[in-house]
Amino acid sequence: MAVDITKSKCVYCGGCVAACPVLALTLFETRVVCDEAKCISCGTCVRACPMQAIKLKNKK
Ligand code: SF4
Ligand code: SF4
Repeated sequence: MAVDITKSKCVYCGGCVAACPVLALTLFETRVVCDEAKCISCGTCVRACPMQAIKLKNKK
């Protein structure tokens, strides 16, 4: 499972990284990366992002 992060909206505040309960997100200098193996699609990061840059990926 994973999330989609719209790079153009992200301001690299790290809020989503801090909010993720399973530490699936990592903030790099110019992008946030989601570890698909860890993500449980809880939606916490979606609610934490002040820029509405994160969406849950559709489950397949
Ligand atoms: S959906 Fe939940 S588990 Fe997945 S990256 Fe966001 S906060 Fe972490
Ligand atoms: S909370 Fe949103 S704006 Fe902040 S680093 Fe995460 S994706 Fe980017």
